[in-house]
Amino acid sequence: MSWTVFRCDNPDFRVRSVPDDITFGVKRSAMERSEAFRDMFSFCEQGLPSGDSSEAEVDPIVDLHEPADVLAILLRILHDPPRPPEEIPSSELDSYVKKYDEATVIPLPLLELVVLQLVDKYLLDESITEVLQQHLLAHAPSNGLRVYAFAVTNNMPKMASKASQYVEPMAKYTFQEIKCIPTVKAYHDLVRLQDFRVQALRDLLLKEDVFPHGYGACQPHAQSTPTTWDTKRRALLARIETGSDIAWEMSSLVETLSDCKTCQKACVAAVDMLAYKCRRIPKTLEKLPTGYLE
Ligand SMILES: [Zn+2]
Repeated sequence: MSWTVFRCDNPDFRVRSVPDDITFGVKRSAMERSEAFRDMFSFCEQGLPSGDSSEAEVDPIVDLHEPADVLAILLRILHDPPRPPEEIPSSELDSYVKKYDEATVIPLPLLELVVLQLVDKYLLDESITEVLQQHLLAHAPSNGLRVYAFAVTNNMPKMASKASQYVEPMAKYTFQEIKCIPTVKAYHDLVRLQDFRVQALRDLLLKEDVFPHGYGACQPHAQSTPTTWDTKRRALLARIETGSDIAWEMSSLVETLSDCKTCQKACVAAVDMLAYKCRRIPKTLEKLPTGYLE
């Protein structure tokens, strides 16, 4: 199903793409999902001379200065408003990243075109705009930087904030990729967010002991298990990134300690505590402490 092909089975109105001189039959009731068309219809009705039946019988047509392929996208959205993307239920208990059935997600280039050009120009109904934004957000986990940059460019701060959590560590991008970020401020905000997260994750890891304040301590392994924990932790510290799952990384120790139930139990508790504290670290721009981005 191509987005740039549009056909209406029982049209009662026509619109023409002026640049391509292509006319589309449309349904007026569908066109009224756009405030721009609603205004136009009410304006036309006021303009029609009353009682002039010969005038009213002429099939009305509206000229639009829109390429035919773009117009087709607009008409399709108005006639068959897109449904929200379908979420794939995650089997991972701790997974906060939503996954979507790709077949149900509108492709990103098309969204960028539609959201940018058509939503504002034709004042599409909020119900449509909201669904389009859900589609845009569905691309964020796999395309964090691009969705972030697009949201900033189009003055969508909430969307930008939500997308910010999916941006890879900044240094991993090439200049060609990073230059889509429109302003120094938008660039710097990401640098600050990522630095905040790395520092917070490092602090957490450094403070979390396997026998915190001696709690759950195992006498036979009072020295060796904390040493094992500390060795693992120091190796991890050096390579923490903004998206690191430090609890998951440390959880590999649980297997190593399988010879001693007491130590293993303490390790599981420490890993759970880490996971809990990690979830409280801000993931998005708007969750950062007030004033941090000024
Ligand atoms: Zn032990």
